[in-house]
Amino acid sequence: MNQQVTSQTDNKNIKVGVIGAGGRMGRMLIEALQDNPQTKLSAAIERQGSSLVGADAGEVAAIGRIDVSIVDNLVSVINDIDVLIDFSLPEATEQNMQICAEHNVAMVIGTTGFNEQQETALAAASQKVAIVYAGNYSTGVNLSLKLLEMAAKAFGTEADVEVIEAHHKHKIDAPSGTAYMMAEAVAKGRGQNLKDVAVYGREGQTGARKTGTIGIHAIRGGEIVGDHTVMFIADGEVVEITHRARVRMTFAAGAVRAATWIVQQPVGQYDMQDVLGLND
Ligand code: NAD
Repeated sequence: MNQQVTSQTDNKNIKVGVIGAGGRMGRMLIEALQDNPQTKLSAAIERQGSSLVGADAGEVAAIGRIDVSIVDNLVSVINDIDVLIDFSLPEATEQNMQICAEHNVAMVIGTTGFNEQQETALAAASQKVAIVYAGNYSTGVNLSLKLLEMAAKAFGTEADVEVIEAHHKHKIDAPSGTAYMMAEAVAKGRGQNLKDVAVYGREGQTGARKTGTIGIHAIRGGEIVGDHTVMFIADGEVVEITHRARVRMTFAAGAVRAATWIVQQPVGQYDMQDVLGLND
């Protein structure tokens, strides 16, 4: 038992830095790095002026002291990092990509909302180091998208497809971005353009269902984190593919998995489907 514990500790040899260590995702990432048997938090970085600079990263993440102090300067700790995970702000990530490219440090980027200049900076940095960049690090969502494309190819328009999503009552938009991604995966598998075939909700004298359309429906209530079901309704059988997000930790664990993978990869830009081996 003790031996097992020791060898697990010894295997924690991938040194990971976290940008935005005090953020919602940053705190989750610190916990996920502790939980992963291969990774250890080697540096925690926050923005200049943050009240968290100097604090213990483990205490900030509410997992207890881990003796890694939060600093406000990536360059000062860059030599202690094999891979940098960055869920912060586009402007911050843009700068960090340049620093990592100069110092030969791999990256996992979760920051969303890049403008054109930041996309260009990402492409340039990916010429120098290995980078994973994904808008959604959930293993389940990425797997579901692949399964949906496969199912859509197999059924063609023989199955009627309906996408149903459910979210908490505070959500102000509908349908969800993930529901769109899922409907798009189905349309792609069937060689369709989503905007030509999408039907949002139904009411009144709708007429009979048109072959090849994709129905999309949104449910709102309570504190549901995010559920998505896609039904393939064929003659005589129904296939349902469901994803349920429970907590933000799902994104953090996916990003840490990406970090363990990217340190083994050649220079280039990758996404979460690459990490999961879904593009092979
Ligand atoms: P947040 O505001 O809680 O955290 C961001 C943190 O970054 C803050 O603590 C902030 O102080 C810090 N920061 C800002 N500038 C910095 C700098 N120059 N250097 C170091 N730290 C800096 O936000 P969040 O909810 O954690 O989300 C962060 C980003 O991750 C957003 O772009 C969000 O859309 C994205 N996100 C992506 C996924 C995914 O799966 N790809 C999942 C969740 C969130």
